[in-house]
Amino acid sequence: MKRGPRLVLLGKQGAGKGTQATRLGDRYCITHVSTGDLLREAAEKGTPAGLKAAHYMNSGELVPDDIVLGVVEEQFAEGGMLEDGFILDGFPRNLHQAEELEKLLDGEPLHAVINLDVPTEIVLDRIAGRRVCEGCGMNYHVNMPPKSDWACDECGGRVVQREDDTEEAVQRRLELYEEVTVPIIDFYRGLGKLVVVDGVGEGDEVFERLVKVVDDRYPPEQP
Ligand code: AMP
Repeated sequence: MKRGPRLVLLGKQGAGKGTQATRLGDRYCITHVSTGDLLREAAEKGTPAGLKAAHYMNSGELVPDDIVLGVVEEQFAEGGMLEDGFILDGFPRNLHQAEELEKLLDGEPLHAVINLDVPTEIVLDRIAGRRVCEGCGMNYHVNMPPKSDWACDECGGRVVQREDDTEEAVQRRLELYEEVTVPIIDFYRGLGKLVVVDGVGEGDEVFERLVKVVDDRYPPEQP
């Protein structure tokens, strides 16, 4: 029985992947897996893998594949994801990770790989103003802060700038995106899975475009 779509969301840092992946996860009742969030959690807990990951993350470098694949495999190992559906956000980030994901899928194909397309000038502006809740990960922008004194509207946590959102780290992440992430766009185009969605505009507008794409490839059940 089919229960939920299997999705990958690609896009530059600041394209709005995190926000839109959370909304898609809620809409289709599927697990939202953000490798950035999982790695930050591991770093906060101070696990050996987490501490190693933090070193790469803070300088805008990609975390080595063995650590990233470890956290993703743990998610799949918990079970249910393949049947119930999922949305991967921030993974895969290079060709090797894309190939490893094919193995984890165990013959269950992805329904869509969506490239959320936003020009570099726009993402630079978004990231410079981006602020995030230390507690629940909710995103804000300096132009749209929480209601009271940088305390999160959702959980009351402190809303701060991410350590890896410095200008140098952001430039490095965008360079890496061109170098190692763009090739996986061709990989998925070759598999006939790629869909490009315009990520410029109001969040609600972009979300509607994404829902349309998912519904086309994973039609809602008829009553
Ligand atoms: P994100 O929250 O997706 O912007 O990820 C933040 C940082 O986590 C990235 O700059 C990388 O250092 C690391 N990271 C997240 N996902 C991956 C991945 N799939 N492969 C390697 N590094 C990753």
